[in-house]
Order: sequence, then structure tokens, then C-alpha cells
Amino acid sequence: MKLCFATNNLNKLTEIQALLGDQFELVTLADIGCETDIPEPYDTISENSYGKAAYVHKNFRIDCFADDTGLEVSALNGEPGVMSARYAGPQRDSEDNIALLLQKLSAFTDRSARFVTVITLVLDGTFHQFEGIVQGNIISAKRGTNGFGYDPVFVPDGYEKTFAEMTLEEKSQLSHRARAFTKLVKFLQTNRVDIQP
Ligand code: IMP
Repeated sequence: MKLCFATNNLNKLTEIQALLGDQFELVTLADIGCETDIPEPYDTISENSYGKAAYVHKNFRIDCFADDTGLEVSALNGEPGVMSARYAGPQRDSEDNIALLLQKLSAFTDRSARFVTVITLVLDGTFHQFEGIVQGNIISAKRGTNGFGYDPVFVPDGYEKTFAEMTLEEKSQLSHRARAFTKLVKFLQTNRVDIQP
């Protein structure tokens, strides 16, 4: 089955391809000739995810899915949330984002946070959404070099390692994105005869 994943983020593509296996032929935005940086103008992760999928479906008429993720920190009232990529500015730099987050959190003892992913699938013109959440804590200094984004400062509940200290396989067992994608895959297996459980 051919599906467009509305991303050009190769980290994400690698994570998702590992989850989906070979029943899906994933194509990226670059593969379908979409060179636009699809806008994310909304106030919620859900709406931004929906908007990206709707853009691709409207302009390229292909079955597709889009994801949007935010890190929500309790003590910061849900910041950075939808601003996760651009928290420290339009340069979208992970080092800057982490530095700002650690600085803002330095006065707080409550370090709890969660990653939330919402995937929007457009299949045969109908929209479906799937959510994945992982709860954890923000540590006070970076650890690990794997992954991307806020991985070096996020320790999921029940684990000692940060996401950046885990292998791709370990992170894929429990991440927000993996949880949302597992729901997507189950949905496709149930609703498409050409996909085997
Ligand atoms: P996006 O909507 O998936 O592009 O995610 C927005 C931002 O959230 C990214 O630029 C990263 O800073 C952060 N982010 C998303 N997923 C992850 C993850 O798995 N680990 C760490 N940070 C992430």
C-alpha cells in the first residue's frame, strides 16, 4: 500500500519505517514533489496535524498522513506545546530550544512533562485522528546523543535513560509517536483488506 507521510524529517521517517514494516510503501513530501513548507498556523497540535494532511490531500490527491508533536511541560502551563520546534526562535534550533527550556524550568521542582503526537490520516477522502502520549520528566542537563529535538533532556516514566540515551528500537517501544502510529497501523489493518495483521 502506498502512503505519503507528510514530512521531510528523515529522523521521523526512519522511526516510522521501522514500525510499519514492508507492508507500506512510504513516500515523503519530496517524493511527491511538494516543496512547500506547509504552514502550521493553529493553536493546537490536533489542528496543525489536520491542516498538514488536508493540504497534501487537497493539492496532491493521495492517501496520506501527517503528524504533529508537542512537548507539554506541567510547570510551564503546557509550554512549549505547539511552539516546540520554534520555542527559542524561528531558527528552529534544538540546542537553543533546550537551553531556553532548562532556563525557564530552573526555578521549579515539578519537572513533569509529556510528549503528545496527533496523526491525521486521510484515506479515501475521509479523515481519522490517532493520539499518542508518553509521560516523563525533564532533567536539568542533557544526556545522550541519539534521537533529536528534546530527547537529551526527557526521561520517560519508569526508565532511567533519556530518549537520547536509548537506541532507536528502545525509543520506538514507548514513544508518543510510536503509540500514535501503532493505532494508525491497527486501523489500517482493520479497514484495508490489502494489509495483513
Ligand atoms: P513535529 O511537529 O513532529 O515536527 O515536532 C515539533 C517539535 O517537537 C520538533 O521540532 C522537536 O523539537 C520536538 N519533537 C517532536 N518529536 C520529538 C521526539 O520524538 N523527541 C524529541 N523532541 C521531539
